[in-house]
Amino acid sequence: MSTAPELDRSTATTSPPAGLFGTGTAVPTVVPAAADLPVEIPVDTVGLSADDKVRTKVITSAIRRRSQELRAEHPVLRHQDALGLAAFGVAVLGFVGSGALYLTGVLPWYVTLFVSAAFAAIGHEVEHDLIHALYFRRRKGIRYALLFGVWAIRPYTINPVYRIRLHLRHHAYSGLPDDIEEVSITNGKPWGAVRLYSLLDPYVPALIRIVTTKPKDAEDALWRQTILKASIGLTPVAITIWYAFLGLHVASWLGADVPSGWLHALTVLTVVWVGPNVWRGFCLHFISSNMHYQGDVEQGNVLQQTQVFNRWYLVPFQVFCLNFGSTHPIHHFYVADPFYVRQLMERDIHPVLAANGVRFNDMGTFKRANRYNG
Ligand SMILES: [Zn+2]
Ligand SMILES: [Zn+2]
Repeated sequence: MSTAPELDRSTATTSPPAGLFGTGTAVPTVVPAAADLPVEIPVDTVGLSADDKVRTKVITSAIRRRSQELRAEHPVLRHQDALGLAAFGVAVLGFVGSGALYLTGVLPWYVTLFVSAAFAAIGHEVEHDLIHALYFRRRKGIRYALLFGVWAIRPYTINPVYRIRLHLRHHAYSGLPDDIEEVSITNGKPWGAVRLYSLLDPYVPALIRIVTTKPKDAEDALWRQTILKASIGLTPVAITIWYAFLGLHVASWLGADVPSGWLHALTVLTVVWVGPNVWRGFCLHFISSNMHYQGDVEQGNVLQQTQVFNRWYLVPFQVFCLNFGSTHPIHHFYVADPFYVRQLMERDIHPVLAANGVRFNDMGTFKRANRYNG
């Protein structure tokens, strides 16, 4: 497939696109005010114009077709569980190996930091695919074991089991204030010191806000409970190591008598475990929070939810989130492909996205604080 199919009204139908979770069900939006998030959230596409529904269907069909072609061209892609397991192995072994080479004096700290960050980025994509049950669909035990495995190499992230709910909610309410996952990584906030710092560490600014202010409304209360629940596990451990590392080093430079054993232990843990994820998280949060729109997106309108964000000068960030800005819009239209298939179809699908109204490199989003229309 080398040419971009234009919007073809003669063949495209005006029926609503299938729901993102394969339900095809259109229901009114319900923002749960309860203390927890539902796992299954049908996508409401009732308010979309016929034109937008047609464009969405054209894009989704093109992706599905290319997905089938790729599997015919490369039969190895049909072994999805094995490929997922292989990606998991590469991520974990690469991350651990890079740390081991630092500990044995082969690699300097800054090489380990960036190499480990790149392997952890593979782990992030594996987690995302597991959230959509793209590997071991009928083997929940294996899926959960792999989820905890990729969390072990990415401790500066929320509990992956809780992220399942948050991420499915992201697809259902993308671009709306109810999209807790994106709102929590600064999407929609005005630019300033707080937003910049929150890209590096979304958790501590969120925790400070939770402790020092009262909920504004039911949605805000839900956000607070969600952040607290989703942080149970490795996240506070990573936060403690990171800030102890920073604090004790600053104290040492200022002349305080800090035990050298503590400094050494914290430095090792930061270089081989936490630090690569602070950098990786910054890159992912920067790309993700600027390629998703927020605030005035129409409920369920995938055309407005993301832009393709892939200017050449974004490459230093894209490396550490596996080209997220370029391939994640494809995922919003069609969730059934693993990350490497999205990468393989990127060149063929981008013209289809462009021909049907998805924006490319809309840098005005920085001025508009992510609003679609300004
Ligand atoms: Zn997803
Ligand atoms: Zn998204």
